[in-house]
Amino acid sequence: MQPGVTNENVAVIPVVFFDVDTQRDFIMPDGCLSIKGADRIEPNLFKLSDYSSTKRVAWFSTMDSHVLDDMEISSEPDFKTTFPPHCMNATAGEERIAATFHPNPLVLDMRTRSPVEPWPYIQTHFDSIVFKKNNIDVFSNENLDRVLSCVKPSVFVVFGVATDFCVKSAVEGLLLRNLKVVLVKDAVYAIDQDVEKFLFNDWERQGVKLMATEQVTNLNPHEFEDLFK
Ligand SMILES: [Zn+2]
Repeated sequence: MQPGVTNENVAVIPVVFFDVDTQRDFIMPDGCLSIKGADRIEPNLFKLSDYSSTKRVAWFSTMDSHVLDDMEISSEPDFKTTFPPHCMNATAGEERIAATFHPNPLVLDMRTRSPVEPWPYIQTHFDSIVFKKNNIDVFSNENLDRVLSCVKPSVFVVFGVATDFCVKSAVEGLLLRNLKVVLVKDAVYAIDQDVEKFLFNDWERQGVKLMATEQVTNLNPHEFEDLFK
């Protein structure tokens, strides 16, 4: 049997760290779709990883993973909806950077899996859940909604890249589902810094809490929900 998730035994957990696309091709200066300056967030990503392993906080990752036939991949990209080849399946570029590397993830690809294992099993046997995607929207991987139907984090702490693309899509998908979001403002990085400024304001208006890494790591996991009271 493949490991997966089941709708039985809904688990409510205080917080999940939601790590968006912190992959080599986006963050490393020599990556195929490198975001200039994004490697500056690495020290903060290390701090978030350390915190989550010390405090045993659940860790979800999104993972861009492409084949050449994907709609998003183009030899004449417009850098809005199409991009040059990046995070190609089974290349080093799709791997996570050292700061967010988890050696033992449950990897859920775009295919829907039959429900199998409850959250306590996943938590015991894996160090994180990876949701693969072949476009900007992680919720296009239906496994994310399936996991969220049986694991109910009270608060989502979101960070990663790029603020103005996949982080934006993740935050908006969470808000659409009426979920509580903390955005770690110094552990995200945008392609366009002006767009990031606009998004920060827009998200704050919608109830997202913008916090620095240091503020996040000074809280205990159960204290995140109090931010929204
Ligand atoms: Zn992509």
